[in-house]
Amino acid sequence: MGKLNELDIVRRIEKKFAKPAKGLITGIGDDCAVIAPALGYEIVVTTDTLVEGVHFRRDLSPPRLIGEKSAAVNLSDIAAMGAKPKFCFLSLTLTNKIDGKWVANYLAGFEKVLKKHGVALAGGNVAMAGRDLSFTVTLMGEVKPKLKVLRSGAKPGDHVFVTGTPGDAVLGLNLSLKKKKHYSTDERKLIKRHQAPSPRVEWGMALAKSGAVSAMIDISDGVALDLTRMMDASAVSAKIDLMRFPLSQAAFGILETGKTKTWETILTGGEDYELLFTVREEKFRKVMELIRQGKIDASPIGLVTKRKRKPLVILDPEEREVNLSRLGFVHGV
Ligand SMILES: [Mg+2]
Repeated sequence: MGKLNELDIVRRIEKKFAKPAKGLITGIGDDCAVIAPALGYEIVVTTDTLVEGVHFRRDLSPPRLIGEKSAAVNLSDIAAMGAKPKFCFLSLTLTNKIDGKWVANYLAGFEKVLKKHGVALAGGNVAMAGRDLSFTVTLMGEVKPKLKVLRSGAKPGDHVFVTGTPGDAVLGLNLSLKKKKHYSTDERKLIKRHQAPSPRVEWGMALAKSGAVSAMIDISDGVALDLTRMMDASAVSAKIDLMRFPLSQAAFGILETGKTKTWETILTGGEDYELLFTVREEKFRKVMELIRQGKIDASPIGLVTKRKRKPLVILDPEEREVNLSRLGFVHGV
């Protein structure tokens, strides 16, 4: 496990990941991957880079969780289209600051998430360079044209839903930056949400299949910014009611301490990788039924309105308008 060697790592990846997969004609080992698209499906593709010091810090997160996260953030984009993830490409930029064991642990985390979602690694690249590590993942998925969900389909009168309990990730990040010796169970839960987000792939597909969703986006940069993006893409506005906003017990505990900035942190903090989506009035009950059956976990938080000057109006539990000093998340680890 001494100094890193590009060829060794490529061999290690080949050994670990080269497996037959449906639709993969030629995988790792040739100049290109060769993929046969399934008949009647469209291909969706996304790519994302995690950079050391910007998106992760080695002193805050173990390599296994960094590996999990670099797969998860891309899966989240596929989920937001209502698509099924299929093939993945991994580009590693490594430095001599880490050793073979670190890479092995990173790959173990990465593999765990791919396996969970039935994704095959179809190719990639390894380079030694620079001062900081970076991991670029490209993910391909497939979706039936009729089921795909874009950001641009929201209409006035639609209900706005969000999955899970957004805000947990940023609260977890803030806690982990404190580097406390002991964390409570609630605090550890929040930290886990930041270090190892769960991409909502199954929920995205269930929502698409239900035919009830008019627009969808995943939350990478905070509810306020990503909801604004969806409203802009749809040329509408939204009114959100914090009274209905889903909070985890741990987040609620922090909110109860009365720190005035906590709502702002929750709404503008990023990296939750939950889904925001809109639903026509007549399909509202269908989505509530999916929630009741436990097929998804989501909460209605507001309504889409006609396009106004502001793309987003947020009302606090006393129905006063909340003014955020910033909309979204700036990566600072
Ligand atoms: Mg996204």
